[in-house]
Amino acid sequence: MVLDDLGSSLRGSLEKLRGQSRLSEEDVEEIVKEIQRALIQADVDISLVQELSDDIKARALEEEPPAGTTARDHILRIVYEELVELVGDSTEIPLEPQTIVLAGLQGSGKTTTAAKMAWWFSKKGLRPAVIQTDTFRPGAYDQAKQMTERAEVDFYGDPDEDDPVEIAREGLERTQDADVRIVDTSGRSGLNEELVDELEEIEAEVDPDHNLLVLDAAIGQGAKDQAKAFGDAVGIDGVAITKLDGTAKGGGALAAVDQTNSTIAFLGTGEEVQDIERFEPSGFISRLLG
Ligand code: GDP
Repeated sequence: MVLDDLGSSLRGSLEKLRGQSRLSEEDVEEIVKEIQRALIQADVDISLVQELSDDIKARALEEEPPAGTTARDHILRIVYEELVELVGDSTEIPLEPQTIVLAGLQGSGKTTTAAKMAWWFSKKGLRPAVIQTDTFRPGAYDQAKQMTERAEVDFYGDPDEDDPVEIAREGLERTQDADVRIVDTSGRSGLNEELVDELEEIEAEVDPDHNLLVLDAAIGQGAKDQAKAFGDAVGIDGVAITKLDGTAKGGGALAAVDQTNSTIAFLGTGEEVQDIERFEPSGFISRLLG
């Protein structure tokens, strides 16, 4: 991690340590406070921030810096390692045939993410297909059709069928030439039994290799409960955070990752099909702190 990746006040606190060989308790306190401020502003769950703070403090004061290491480099390394621990690794996405279900609330960005992921897989040389089972949101079919056309990937949906499970079944049948099948599902404005039932039925029909939870970067304290409910319903093994091109930094999603014991797979950075990035810890950390 380089200092340039950090927010200016944290950078300032670290710069003050220049020339020092040891850290005092006050030095560590000040740095931890700066980190807390940045993370809370980025919507990171308060209990995660507290855990991280305690770990940084304990390590900074207890661990002997390796010979020749300055106090500044010592704490910078600890801070970085603990932040990597907080945000986690990137979800492993093997470049092989697989079926992925996307779940999330309405408006979180599922349909957009499905098309983006299909585009991403096609750029990796695989043949993806999007199966649109969202019969709840008007316009979802047209939106998925148009986006998959722009992404130049296979698409299956049926605007005349209102049973999502039937569409999933037919979709799997019709997309057998594809390597990667991405199943977009309905959302609701809030999690309710109807949505949970529907997801469970799709899960049973599709038997996916992965279930990704799609979360809006602006999600705050609601992330934990949402992740628990989706996780209990279908099991979540990866998270996609959308709308990171806006002002929100996406720290709220870390509570969902923690809750489901999963990791972050993709980041959405715009409305176009190519506006997708694989999650990568150091870039995300800079964004959280910057
Ligand atoms: P769904 O209801 O979960 O399928 O959500 P949609 O995919 O329809 O997305 C909801 C809105 O968010 C749409 O207007 C999308 O264009 C927009 N959106 C989705 N992902 C992103 C993103 O990464 N950046 C921006 N700026 N907008 C996004």
